[in-house]
Amino acid sequence: MSKRDFYEILGVNRDASDEEIKKAYRKLAMKHHPDRNPDNPAAEEKFKEAKEAYEILSDSQKRSAYDQYGHAGLDQQAGMGGGGGAGFADAFGGIFDEIFGGRGGGGGGGRSNIYRGADLRYNLEITLEQAAHGTETKIRIPTMEVCEPCNGSGAKPGTQPKTCPTCGGSGQVRLQQGFFSIQQTCHKCHGTGRFIAEPCKHCDGAGRVKQHKTLAVKIPAGVDEGDRIRLSGEGEHGVNGGPPGDLYVQIHLKQHAVFTRDHNDLHCEMPISFTAAALGGEIEIPTLDGAAAIKIPAETQSGRVFRLRGKGIKGVRSHTHGDLMCHVVVETPVNLTERQKELLRELEESSRDNSGKHNPRSKSWMDKVKDFFAE
Ligand SMILES: [Zn+2]
Ligand SMILES: [Zn+2]
Repeated sequence: MSKRDFYEILGVNRDASDEEIKKAYRKLAMKHHPDRNPDNPAAEEKFKEAKEAYEILSDSQKRSAYDQYGHAGLDQQAGMGGGGGAGFADAFGGIFDEIFGGRGGGGGGGRSNIYRGADLRYNLEITLEQAAHGTETKIRIPTMEVCEPCNGSGAKPGTQPKTCPTCGGSGQVRLQQGFFSIQQTCHKCHGTGRFIAEPCKHCDGAGRVKQHKTLAVKIPAGVDEGDRIRLSGEGEHGVNGGPPGDLYVQIHLKQHAVFTRDHNDLHCEMPISFTAAALGGEIEIPTLDGAAAIKIPAETQSGRVFRLRGKGIKGVRSHTHGDLMCHVVVETPVNLTERQKELLRELEESSRDNSGKHNPRSKSWMDKVKDFFAE
């Protein structure tokens, strides 16, 4: 039996909120609750599985350990702290909490269990330019490696772990409580079925040690916020010879000083002086491939959008480039000298005209306002 990914068990995304996790768990717990599924071991197994996943993902500390190190991160936590089922009762309290016991689920223990390593996630922040053109970068990720001195056994070199005397190596103990026969994870060995008399000093008996590894990651041109790049086999190590999990590099884009991105299109604000807007002219604008020029026609209004075809981004899965959209913002001049003000007053004087010849929008707006007050 291989241990499934907790997010997969609950059917939520890796960035699910606490609320979403709780909701997903409630739904599963209701569906597979032993009360509703008497004599159905498959449902009971699913119930326990969901419960275990919820216990971990609802606890921010355990969740982050799991996100970083996968199942191995939790085994180590449990080894140090003796993890109990805190946080369970508030979502789904009651008798079954006691019956199925603390860390519950996971099944069996013992050496026959072969687990696939959990998938890990690495958040990588890149610039818009890197996303547009692609890049190659190195990432340093924490990893749990097999402890060399004890070769992963957790026992002091030269000694061997023994079969747990409490559970006889099964990792589970059976208790009789009233009518119920209760199976619980063995408290002495935390379900591993093994008992280490003299722990390895190097890893404190965990069999694994925290290390860092550096990986080269190729980021293809066109990636976008939230895209994930899968590095097969670079996730958590498998347990007892199980295959390793995968590493997902999740892309986050840094905010850009000039552009915002919308899929493959880029947008930018383009402030122009009001004389340029009135008289027209040529304006130099930046693009991701260098400078370009836009011809601004005379009488350009604020809010007008100039589209530069093909100056956007070519998405990973698309065959063409997006466009660059320049949004005109006409800038009101500031810090004017007396002389400049005088010129503007003169301009105002000369362009005053009741027919709205020079400012049709103001004129039509004023007419509507007048009608409004006349009614
Ligand atoms: Zn060791
Ligand atoms: Zn035991």
